[in-house]
Amino acid sequence: MRYLAYSNDQDNLYHSSSGGIFYELATKMINKGGMVAGVIMDGTQAYYVLTSDSEVIKKMRGSKYIPSNPYPLIYHIQKIRKSYKEPILFTGLPCHINLFKRKCNCANTILVDLRCHGLPKKGVFEKHLARISKGRTIQNIRFRDKSAGWDTGAISKSLMITYNNGDTYDKYDTYMEEYMKNITLRESCKKCILQRQGDITIGDYWNAPPRYINTKGTSIVHTNTPQGHHYFSAIPTITKKRIYFYHHLNTKNIITCLYQKMNEAGMNRPLRILRKTIKP
Ligand SMILES: Cc1cc2nc3c(=O)[nH]c(=O)nc-3n(C[C@H](O)[C@H](O)[C@H](O)COP(=O)(O)OP(=O)(O)OC[C@H]3O[C@@H](n4cnc5c(N)ncnc54)[C@H](O)[C@@H]3O)c2cc1C
Ligand code: SF4
Repeated sequence: MRYLAYSNDQDNLYHSSSGGIFYELATKMINKGGMVAGVIMDGTQAYYVLTSDSEVIKKMRGSKYIPSNPYPLIYHIQKIRKSYKEPILFTGLPCHINLFKRKCNCANTILVDLRCHGLPKKGVFEKHLARISKGRTIQNIRFRDKSAGWDTGAISKSLMITYNNGDTYDKYDTYMEEYMKNITLRESCKKCILQRQGDITIGDYWNAPPRYINTKGTSIVHTNTPQGHHYFSAIPTITKKRIYFYHHLNTKNIITCLYQKMNEAGMNRPLRILRKTIKP
């Protein structure tokens, strides 16, 4: 099933990339006594970590548009699963969730994947940072800063960096622009047909009808399995609206919607080329 959804927690909405759904799902898991796997920034790199610490979960919030290696954590979970029987919520990109499903025992696990535009090629971000930082030491990096709002469209191109010397870089950035235009996208991402690998899939709900939208961030949530549906729909701190059909019916979105329906029916392979042109 498909929902328009956002967190009722204003602080969480501000620190998340779209409707703050990840944090709500993760908080539920911690409250149940389980652990959460997701990606945090450490300096200029993004890492997968597993935690039950709510402060670390706060750091997982927000999309990081750089590659992160899921292998070390997936092998770690593979090992600890023999003795650790508590539930785990594993969040990541569809290809990472797919890898998790192939390598680990998924019993007592909730898998959450993101709708995915793809990742830029390795090394592009490092070169860009070197060019704009001019030797200054980076303290913190944030993609998609929401201080100018979420629904303006410009958020997709924003990059915010704070330096140790107190300087800040806060711009609609060429790294993000080239990524959005697929100029720096990895070849494997251009050919990718993976999506909706998790029990739950979350993404941005751009162009939702004004009467439903939360201008601080609105997510689209797909519940792909009965267990995912039960997990998501029982969270009272999320505002949800069931979507039967996309409301924003311009030509591009009608094609996207048709593609999605065919994908759900397992007819996606002949449509690879179409997806490349209309990637959500
Ligand atoms: C590279 C990338 C491409 C995306 N492309 C699209 C798209 O085309 N269309 C769309 O609708 N949505 C896309 N998203 C998802 C969207 O940006 C939001 O992450 C999603 O809507 C969840 O938002 P939220 O507010 O619920 O949670 P947030 O707090 O924003 O999400 C945080 C979650 O994202 C995970 N995460 C962040 N960066 C990475 C990373 N590099 N690798 C793996 N996991 C990561 C964290 O572990 C955490 O689970 C993309 C996200 C990423 C990281
Ligand atoms: S487009 Fe596919 S291969 Fe690329 S990051 Fe997303 S899920 Fe992985």
